[in-house]
Amino acid sequence: MRIPALDYEHGEGLGAYVVRSVPTEIAKNTFEIVLEKPEGMRYRPGSAMKWYERLPDGTYARHRTLSMVSSPHEAQIAFAYRGSSSDFKARYVASLRAGDTVYLRNPQDEMRYVPGDEPLLMIAGGIGITPMMSLLRYAAFISAKRPILLLYANPTRDSEAYRAELDAYAAAHPLTIERIYSAEGRALHVGDFAPFAAEPPQPHVYIAGPESMTRTLRAAVLASGIRESRVQVTDFSGYGGTAGFE
Ligand SMILES: Cc1cc2nc3c(=O)[nH]c(=O)nc-3n(C[C@H](O)[C@H](O)[C@H](O)COP(=O)(O)OP(=O)(O)OC[C@H]3O[C@@H](n4cnc5c(N)ncnc54)[C@H](O)[C@@H]3O)c2cc1C
Repeated sequence: MRIPALDYEHGEGLGAYVVRSVPTEIAKNTFEIVLEKPEGMRYRPGSAMKWYERLPDGTYARHRTLSMVSSPHEAQIAFAYRGSSSDFKARYVASLRAGDTVYLRNPQDEMRYVPGDEPLLMIAGGIGITPMMSLLRYAAFISAKRPILLLYANPTRDSEAYRAELDAYAAAHPLTIERIYSAEGRALHVGDFAPFAAEPPQPHVYIAGPESMTRTLRAAVLASGIRESRVQVTDFSGYGGTAGFE
């Protein structure tokens, strides 16, 4: 695949980004990589970007899509992923050094921050926390007063990313965090959000994580009476298993 122009503004563009800091382990087998934010780059909270690799012959090989953890007001852009032995993670991303150039397709809207005062219900399965971080950082930046409930499921506590940041956010804003650890025999359940969802007005709902989890949770949310137009889902294709959801 040959992509001649670098263009941060338009949908088909592929931009060159400079690595600011190499992948750092922020929770068990969970890595964050930070890039310089190019001058004039614009994106919305909850966006994702497709990563490419520039090959020696000048063509670009497509790799994976990662959600942005950062919010547009930040001076840098950040992504996080669970480690694996895949070519993208174990060879390509792991080989990057600060100052290297990486190539990413322009940000694509995945989850959209709904303005207003209505409550937000966020359901994150493991690394599905990434778009929620972008949305939450943005909500904090604009000093949103709306109630937010975050259900955050992980195998164990040490695989939970951004714990301190989330706790700080909850101390200063109307954010409630419900943590679920599947290793303790807990699974996300409709009862975890039903009381919050029952209070009018209906919340806007965000669900992200492995596809098996998002499918189950989306069905549970709709069955609880929340209108489909209020539900946004991002499937992290490529992660198997149910990660302890029922
Ligand atoms: C919109 C969006 C946002 C995402 N955001 C994140 C994120 O923030 N963090 C994160 O860790 N992951 C995210 N993902 C998932 C990510 O793109 C990878 O699929 C995932 O990280 C697994 O990559 P891997 O290299 O470890 O998988 P591998 O071990 O290479 O793949 C595991 C299996 O899944 C298949 N597979 C991998 N990717 C895809 C795909 N995109 N479509 C279909 N099959 C696939 C492979 O062929 C293989 O069979 C996102 C996916 C999407 C679509």
